[in-house]
Amino acid sequence: MPSPLAPLAAALTVALGLLAAPGSDAPTVERRAPAPAARHVVAISLDGLNPHAVRRLGRSRAPVLHRLRGRGAGTLNARTEREQTVTLPNHTGMVTGRRIDAHHRGHGVTWNDARLRPRTVEAAAGHPVRSVFTVVHAAGRRTAVFAAKQKFTLFERSWPNAVDRTVIRPDNAQLVRMARRDLARRERAFTFVHLSLPDIVGHESGFMSRAYLDAVARVDRLVGRLVATVRDDRGLRGSTAVVLTSDHGGLGDGHSDPTRASSYRVPFLAWGAGVAHGAGLYRLNRDYADPGRRRTTYGDARQPVRNGDVANLAIDLLGLPAVRGSEHDSAQDLDVR
Ligand SMILES: [Zn+2]
Repeated sequence: MPSPLAPLAAALTVALGLLAAPGSDAPTVERRAPAPAARHVVAISLDGLNPHAVRRLGRSRAPVLHRLRGRGAGTLNARTEREQTVTLPNHTGMVTGRRIDAHHRGHGVTWNDARLRPRTVEAAAGHPVRSVFTVVHAAGRRTAVFAAKQKFTLFERSWPNAVDRTVIRPDNAQLVRMARRDLARRERAFTFVHLSLPDIVGHESGFMSRAYLDAVARVDRLVGRLVATVRDDRGLRGSTAVVLTSDHGGLGDGHSDPTRASSYRVPFLAWGAGVAHGAGLYRLNRDYADPGRRRTTYGDARQPVRNGDVANLAIDLLGLPAVRGSEHDSAQDLDVR
């Protein structure tokens, strides 16, 4: 049924069109670019978060992740990169929007340690690789990276002019304190926060073990502090979107087998400015497909939501064009509202 306001809206559009004389510089309704959904995006990656842990902990022990899901748009059945389910290759996918395999225009980061050679993502790929950082910077905006593992210095080496600040601190609580301070004091369009607790404890005590679930509950509280800053700070409130995902899951002694569902299944949640209130991402996006338990390929006509969608979703929310050369959500058609 048409809205009762539709005739009024149509009349207004006509009236505004008449007011703008032909050839005049007066802006018309049609010509004005839509305002960006968000002024700031905070991307959070929880290293080694098996989405089953969120279900297992329930609302009482993982209240923040449940709230982000309930009051935002999300899925607990997103996918990692297909080739590998380890940290650095997947995080490089998140910030570049590319698959891993350099022979298929991927980013080429196949290692997962703090080595200094290859020195940059571009050197690994053998072709130019742009990122969310370069797009944001080209628009005159600022970025920051807060990460709990040394290997993330790859990003500032790869895009030295586009990553304005990098902080590496293994202590997750300290890292979150520093990120909160930076969010409140600096004007950043894009902030990347990587927290390692679930992965660290998963390797020590087993993924999905009791100690691991405790670590996920702890990291839930840390995410809560970041969200509190976004919610309470005057410069961020109402103009900030949070995108949260993971590099890989994990079960038992690890996560490095990319053929296991426990490795390749990750959460993907969006919340805040420009994001629907309580929506499933696969319901919002009929051009994407919930993969069930399947290990997906990049050739599937309808793609799953991937952790590699972070880059182009973030800059879409900021009203900026997709990362040149990217693949995941390169049409910026992943809708979060
Ligand atoms: Zn790990």
